[in-house]
Amino acid sequence: MYLSKTQNLEDAITKEFLNEHPKISAGTISTNDMIPFIRAYNAYGDDALNINITLKYKHLTEDSMQSYYAADILFVKKTNRRYFMYITNNKDESKGQVFYNMPIDAKTGWCGHEDGHLMDYEEKSKRQILGFTLAYSFNWLLSKIPEIILKIGKKRVTIEPGIKYLKRIEQNINMRAIKAGLEHELASGIDYTIDISKIPKRIKKRYSQIYKAIN
Ligand SMILES: [Zn+2]
Repeated sequence: MYLSKTQNLEDAITKEFLNEHPKISAGTISTNDMIPFIRAYNAYGDDALNINITLKYKHLTEDSMQSYYAADILFVKKTNRRYFMYITNNKDESKGQVFYNMPIDAKTGWCGHEDGHLMDYEEKSKRQILGFTLAYSFNWLLSKIPEIILKIGKKRVTIEPGIKYLKRIEQNINMRAIKAGLEHELASGIDYTIDISKIPKRIKKRYSQIYKAIN
């Protein structure tokens, strides 16, 4: 009885939100997953995120969520830009993050992080988007190369290419979520990923290098 009442409430909140926000399209996203999105969206406010966002489930190999601009971004006016926010439909933590398993605060934190990426794209010119995409992709590929260990004198120096750049970008995105008042939710998302989830160690390591608290 209690569960079905909660479900009805979530359905009603989602329906009302989508009616009031015609630029947001939720497709097959369950109301259960829409609630954390709505919480994060409301933290930023309508003015901050007055953009076309389509939410979709997608098979993501490591992350719980990802955000992209539509492929035509270099050819359309700013008012016609479209963005996608993907939620992983992976249900197996041995392969990567499972959005489904996370507590609502953790889900809200990651939604808030992705909102930050969308705002960041929206503020960029076409030229800046192109430059950013090239730099991010290049550094992402570099970060996949195993650690390069150099011996300088007797000291071992470990170089992890790409990580420094990715960390700077992602920490700036985290700052947006924190400024929107989502500090607790963001910390909950990061802590869940690193400390609680059963995802592979190599993914946890990436998350602790790139997303963990600003220092
Ligand atoms: Zn990010």
